[in-house]
Amino acid sequence: MEQEALSSLIQTARQAGMAACEVCLLLSPRSCTRCPRCGNPLHSRKPGSISRTSALLIAALILYFPANLLPMTTVVTLGQAQSDTILSGVIYFLQTGSWPIAILIFIASILVPLLKIGILGYLLISVKRGSTFRPVDRTRLYRLTELVGRWSMLDIFVVTVLVALVNLGAIASIQAGPGALFFAAVVVITMAAAMTFDPRLIWDRCSREKSDAG
Ligand SMILES: [Zn+2]
Repeated sequence: MEQEALSSLIQTARQAGMAACEVCLLLSPRSCTRCPRCGNPLHSRKPGSISRTSALLIAALILYFPANLLPMTTVVTLGQAQSDTILSGVIYFLQTGSWPIAILIFIASILVPLLKIGILGYLLISVKRGSTFRPVDRTRLYRLTELVGRWSMLDIFVVTVLVALVNLGAIASIQAGPGALFFAAVVVITMAAAMTFDPRLIWDRCSREKSDAG
């Protein structure tokens, strides 16, 4: 009964005719176009969230292919050049027995970006279809994409450190390949996609006031 009493008291800012500032979190009436405290444009929900996130996700998915198919690094040792993609790098580390590095690169560079695109794609489709399926779990999925997102830059970091370290020696030289550029683009674009997605859309459809959604 206590839970019922509590849920009758809970309402969203939108249901109360208010909108929260995304920068300073101040609640203002929805009639305001700008936050009266910090001047940030006020929106009840992120404007064009679904179309912007869709466009960014499609771009990320397209760039994911050259990021994995083109070489990340080119190592020149005594005049011999060897190019490595992310996957061939993982295989190289596995063969040389450095399996922790192989697992780390596989998770950070292949699995995480794909997982992030997949989860955001699923959330987007579920919101677009007005799904009321397990909103708490879908919100958890969104939080997961934000949590893992920051680790996707690990690969770019590894390439940067490798280039700096190996080029110190005169015998071998290493260059970042075109794959690195595409990979960095995938990481940045999926981060932007997670930011443009408004997780409140998940709850709008599940809200008790159906007229409020949309
Ligand atoms: Zn503000």
